[in-house]
Order: sequence, then C-alpha cells, then structure tokens
Amino acid sequence: MSRKLYELPPLPYSYEALEPYISREQLRIHYEIHHKAYVDGANRLLQMMDESRREGRAFDVRAALKALSFNIGGHVLHTAYWNSMAPRPKGGGSPGGRLGEKIAEDFGSFERFKQEFTEAALTVEGSGWAALSYCKHTGRLLIMQIEKHNTNVFPAHPVLLVVDVFEHAYYIDYRNDRRRYLENWWNVVNWGFAEEVFEKLL
Ligand code: MN
Repeated sequence: MSRKLYELPPLPYSYEALEPYISREQLRIHYEIHHKAYVDGANRLLQMMDESRREGRAFDVRAALKALSFNIGGHVLHTAYWNSMAPRPKGGGSPGGRLGEKIAEDFGSFERFKQEFTEAALTVEGSGWAALSYCKHTGRLLIMQIEKHNTNVFPAHPVLLVVDVFEHAYYIDYRNDRRRYLENWWNVVNWGFAEEVFEKLL
C-alpha cells in the first residue's frame, strides 16, 4: 500500500520575478535545495514510520516526532512564504479590504503593524519566521515569532503572511544583514494572498 506523501509545490512565479529584491540565484537555491530538503525529510520519516509499524520494528519516537515537526513546519511555512511574495506591481504596498481595516483596528495603523512585524522578524533568536496569524476565538490578528520551523507556534492558528528569516533566505543577496533583507522584502509582500486567506476565515 503506497500512502500519500508531501510534494514540493510549483513556485507561483519565475526565479527572477522578485529581482532586484531577491535574486534569481537566492530564490532558486532556497526553493530547490532548502524547501525540497524539508519535503524529502518529512517523507523519509513518514515512510520510515510506516515501514517500522508494518514490520513490527521499534523506532526512536521522540527523535522521529521532533524531526517530523521540524520538517513539516518547514514545508508548510515555505509554501506560505512563496505565496506571501509577488512580483511588483502586484507585490508591495499596503493591505486593502477587510484585512486592511482589521490591521488598522488591531494595531492602530498599518505603519505600526509593519514596525512590529519587522521587529518580530528581526529579533528571532537564531533561525525562524515572523507570521501574521488570526485567532478565531478572540477575533484578533496575532504576530507569531516562530523559532526554527515549529517553536512558539500557536497550534492550529492559520498563517496569513509569513517571512523567512533563516539565513539561507537572504545570505546570497544580503550576507548577514537581516535588517536590509527585511527592508527590501516589503517591496514584494503579497497582500492579495493575505487578504484572500483572511476573507476565507471570516
Ligand atoms: Mn527558508
């Protein structure tokens, strides 16, 4: 019996589409090498667990689940990251519609949101992400500061928008300058995607 596995989704644009903010080489390596490694890593673990169960063999449950969470988190967040960006003129600017209104309501202003989101991304300890999320219980927008791919995540809270601050996301273009990468990232942010996800939650 062959069971379903994760797949590397197609990029929603070409490798050079986000230039000059994210170079062809940076995007290609990030997608083909790094994202793919999480997909392959998650699949290897799933297959190892299937096989072990089938053959009645033990496996290190703690190590497997830790690695699985890291790899699935990496895959899911990278998929959201590609969608969180778009070539200009679609990319950049500020959110409209009900999300635009909600950001102003919850954060005071778009500028204030942008400042907090940037600070969340800038101050992730080590490798991680900043994500805009929504809590259906309280009707509040929330910023998640995710370490690695899976630490500090609010369980089952949807991701509307996400920025990758693993060094592998920017080292070719910006060396170790996370701040400059983030400043440039706002030029390709895809508010259309975030608005779409938000509308479906309401
Ligand atoms: Mn990445």
